Amino acid sequence: MPDIPSIAAGTAGAATTFKLLFEAVKAALGLAKSADVNNAILEIQQKLLEHQTAYFDLVEKHQAVTVERDALKQELLQIKQLQANFERYELKTLAPGFSAYVLKESAAGGEPPHWLCPHCKESGMVGMIQLSANDSFEAQFFPGEKNTAHLVCGNCRAAFTMPRAAFDALWDKFA
Ligand SMILES: [Zn+2]
Repeated sequence: MPDIPSIAAGTAGAATTFKLLFEAVKAALGLAKSADVNNAILEIQQKLLEHQTAYFDLVEKHQAVTVERDALKQELLQIKQLQANFERYELKTLAPGFSAYVLKESAAGGEPPHWLCPHCKESGMVGMIQLSANDSFEAQFFPGEKNTAHLVCGNCRAAFTMPRAAFDALWDKFA
């Protein structure tokens, strides 16, 4: 039979052991609890990150679409302006085999009469037709060329010729 002191000691020891065990369980529970919480926090953070990434993707796409839309608006505006400008001209046959866009007097707005290159107009560009720098040279050195006017497009450099009489009659005239 154990004596009283040893029972008391045993009880005290058991109590100590139980207390330690209780602390350990409590700590384990606490750990488990904080691990769960940590996992939940990680999960939430992960989801937040996914949403943030998706949000930034959307913002980026929206910006790209906005830039593209603005560029298209600008392009459309330029096409409309170009179209409106071309409406100021009339396609006229200036000589056999030579047609060009001639400025209408009603749309001149103070500009002198002039002709636009049909090739450039086809490409949506404005090309002013001018008397070629070669014209006087040709007339001076090639007598046969005196009766021919030599013209050139200031934009695409296409060369045109027409009878000088027709050129003199039409050059300063509106459509
Ligand atoms: Zn041209």
